[in-house]
Amino acid sequence: MDRINVTRSSMPAFEEYTEEIKNLWESRWLTNMGAKHNELQDKLCEYLSVRSVSLFTNGHMALEAAIAALKITGEVITTPFTFASTTQAIVRNGLTPVFCDINEDDYTIDVKKIESLITDKTSAIIPVHVYGNVCNVYEIEKIAKNYGLKVIYDAAHTFGVRVGDRGVASFGDASMFSFHATKVFNTIEGGCVAYSDDSLTDKLKAQMNFGMSDSEHYPEIAGNAKMNEFQAAMGLCNLRHVDEEIAKRKLAAQRYIERLSKIPGIKPWHEQEKVKHNYAYFPVVFDKEIFPKSRDEVADELAENNIFARKYFYPITSEFECYGGLFDIQDTPIAKRVSENVLTLPMYADLALDDIDRICDIILN
Ligand SMILES: *Cc1c(COP(=O)(O)O)cnc(C)c1O
Repeated sequence: MDRINVTRSSMPAFEEYTEEIKNLWESRWLTNMGAKHNELQDKLCEYLSVRSVSLFTNGHMALEAAIAALKITGEVITTPFTFASTTQAIVRNGLTPVFCDINEDDYTIDVKKIESLITDKTSAIIPVHVYGNVCNVYEIEKIAKNYGLKVIYDAAHTFGVRVGDRGVASFGDASMFSFHATKVFNTIEGGCVAYSDDSLTDKLKAQMNFGMSDSEHYPEIAGNAKMNEFQAAMGLCNLRHVDEEIAKRKLAAQRYIERLSKIPGIKPWHEQEKVKHNYAYFPVVFDKEIFPKSRDEVADELAENNIFARKYFYPITSEFECYGGLFDIQDTPIAKRVSENVLTLPMYADLALDDIDRICDIILN
């Protein structure tokens, strides 16, 4: 049997990409806000239903830039049940993450626990739309308004997700999307900050381009995080097919749900009300008390069959050795428990329904 990985990158036809990059051999403009970059930026504003988009070389640098551009200081309320990037971006900006626990149901930040974590040093909330599940954006908006806090969403998992009739990026001061090869929409490596306040545009530009405002002025201390033309060309190609890909992912998710719901001790991913999902991931949480096998045993069994699921997210970021035990993991018991029992099953547009059946058969036997 062929190897099945947890994800597989979406790619356009080879000829579609070569056609897209052809004129770069005439223009010789390879990076620094080129024509492909600008075209992708416009198309993404439209696709994401957001006023402004700034493109970056990857999602992580986009998040770091958003934090720096919004001048966040002191303490930031966030969750540890996320990819390393969220917490690392906060700490690399010289800020202190304050960890809030997550919901049992959708793994996003538990809004009931935010207010008790606010101090006079708190300046922002950085919640994560985990697995493409949308945070309680309305409640977060209320809290932020009451306490004068900025909100930056880690929206790396929610490309194209809509809440009611709004794009997910219309909430908060800014949202970061990742266009990494493993994400629903990719530019090989890449990412963006999406936002509504145009005054952020120049600040984000400075953050991606050495702190420069014009060739003789450097008002900010910053590095280099620009998206190049070959990345943008990949994005232009992939964007043409992304709706089709999401539709295929939906079929895959539905098959998993059909096979895995109503099984005692297994909690498969489910849709949220009034949300148009992108089916980015398919997490399953095993209940140790009820299901006869542990998460690790299931992962091993799948691996013996050449199927590679992922313990995503495990460990929680507050446990990382780089933080030297600074954080008390008992503060977020639900995040801790979910991370020890979650397995993210293979999920990509071209995953065959037969393969999903085979994966479910192994889990259920
Ligand atoms: C992928 C991801 C990132 C980082 O994005 P890159 O484009 O890989 O730098 C940040 N946060 C989350 C939750 C992610 O999944």
